[in-house]
Amino acid sequence: MWRDPLFWLVSVAVACAMEFWARGLHDRLWHGPWWPAHRSHHVPRKGPFEFNDVFALMHASIAIVLIVGGFHANAGRASHVAIAVGYGMTAFGMAYFVVHDGFIHGRLPVGFLSRFGWLRRIRNAHNVHHRTDAAPYGLFLGPQELRQTRRAPRSSSIGN
Ligand SMILES: [Zn+2]
Ligand SMILES: [Zn+2]
Repeated sequence: MWRDPLFWLVSVAVACAMEFWARGLHDRLWHGPWWPAHRSHHVPRKGPFEFNDVFALMHASIAIVLIVGGFHANAGRASHVAIAVGYGMTAFGMAYFVVHDGFIHGRLPVGFLSRFGWLRRIRNAHNVHHRTDAAPYGLFLGPQELRQTRRAPRSSSIGN
């Protein structure tokens, strides 16, 4: 499996695609019908956890099922792809947890990450989301998303 280029390709592609998946969910569901749960992330947290954490657990359980299922299934392309998707989701989830929850919201002692300019830009863009409850909804591409929305605000596209 480790020597299969498809395995690595799928893992990396899924990890990158997760940014767009998470952005879409955040925009359409978290700030839509699932706002009652996500709201807990937009108000000051009481205690170490917030209701919004269920979304991380939801994705983590899907990744675990894919990885465990993939390893239990007969070795083959399909099981490799299942494991690769699970690994890609896990890699994104861990990066998201460290940068978003740990660095931006101070839930992990990773303040040293502020020495990286690109992480500070991600934090600034995410702070805009918290101030406005609007775009950027993505995290790692938040700065780019912010530039795009400022150039073409949604409200101005209604008349087009
Ligand atoms: Zn946040
Ligand atoms: Zn939000």
